[in-house]
Amino acid sequence: MNNEIELSKTEILEDRYSRLKLIPWWNQDRLSNAKIMVVGAGAIGNELIKNLALLGIGEIIVIDMDKIEEANLTRSVLFRKSDIGRFKADVACERAMEINPDVRAIPINANIIDNIGLGVYRRMDVVLGGLDNREARLAINQACYKVNKPWIDGAIEALNGIARVFIPPEGPCYECTMTETDWKLINKRKSCALLTHQEMKEGKIPTTPTSSSIIGGIQIQEMLKLLHGDRNLPILAGKGYVFNGLTHDSYMVEYQRKEDCMSHYTYENIIEKDWSVKSLRLIDMVESVKNDLGDKAIIEFDREIVTNANCTCGYKKEIFLPIHLLKGEDLICPACGKGMQYDSAHSLDGSEDFLDRKFVDIGIPLLHIISGRAGLNTKHYEFTKDFNNVFVNY
Ligand SMILES: [Zn+2]
Ligand SMILES: [Zn+2]
Repeated sequence: MNNEIELSKTEILEDRYSRLKLIPWWNQDRLSNAKIMVVGAGAIGNELIKNLALLGIGEIIVIDMDKIEEANLTRSVLFRKSDIGRFKADVACERAMEINPDVRAIPINANIIDNIGLGVYRRMDVVLGGLDNREARLAINQACYKVNKPWIDGAIEALNGIARVFIPPEGPCYECTMTETDWKLINKRKSCALLTHQEMKEGKIPTTPTSSSIIGGIQIQEMLKLLHGDRNLPILAGKGYVFNGLTHDSYMVEYQRKEDCMSHYTYENIIEKDWSVKSLRLIDMVESVKNDLGDKAIIEFDREIVTNANCTCGYKKEIFLPIHLLKGEDLICPACGKGMQYDSAHSLDGSEDFLDRKFVDIGIPLLHIISGRAGLNTKHYEFTKDFNNVFVNY
């Protein structure tokens, strides 16, 4: 009798995943070797992270810049009242590792639109979105197409929701699904001068723990099928699963790829360099790229960097930030109170007067990939030395 008890105890200890492995196509090793990024640790993000932890995903990268507020507690299984005021990503990662010590969960308290280097995306197997705004979805979408990684978007509103799977380089992307109304909303927000993060948060969407659980569950199931891509399982590639929570009807939509869509650019040639954004100066890369591609070569950024602002009253100041990180107040002249004009740069040819700056000083994120181009010849250079700063000490 005693022996029997001992035996069953051992079985349970040794095989946490035994019920999962009963699924004929399941390969638990794939899950324990997988790297999955979750963008957004809100209502959907909590469900995604919970499921990834239960499933024993080896590495979970959680990105969110917000702190926990009391109103999050109705939809966030990983958060407690005592967590209020802490970073969502930090707490979500701690809880994920509590649920399952086999997983390694890495929080990044940062803004997805500007602060996550492409090298982070490049090391993922699948990217999962749990977001509430179109700008962030567009940013993830472009990043995933650049480094050729599938991403699965989830969106909820009250009892309803949608989950969509985008697979570069051939499939339709998130931008291909956008309607004129989506663009109008984005442009309206852009034209409201430069919105601060706080201002952006004001468009709050009603959400429930039930719809986030349904949509987050569908996203995870699609991820599981992607991780078992050789098993001939039907995947929601280029499609959306639409769930109506009032009637519990659901249906699929199939998206069309728009050939003139601006988000389909995929980097073919990524070169790992022993560079860090914290130490490399702009001039160092300009010179290296000219050595590589010839004297006419330039560096091209995937973002617009605001270099300085000028006022009609004569006041000038240096800014050096990606335009998205600029706040409205940054462009108010401290001398006279008027709005200032700004200069910006998309590329560098070596003639600029600020090339002594390091990449981190102009808002380039750790482990980013930056392009060098001479005519039609383009190469993409990764700041690979930043790897440990992102994945170990972040
Ligand atoms: Zn597209
Ligand atoms: Zn002024």
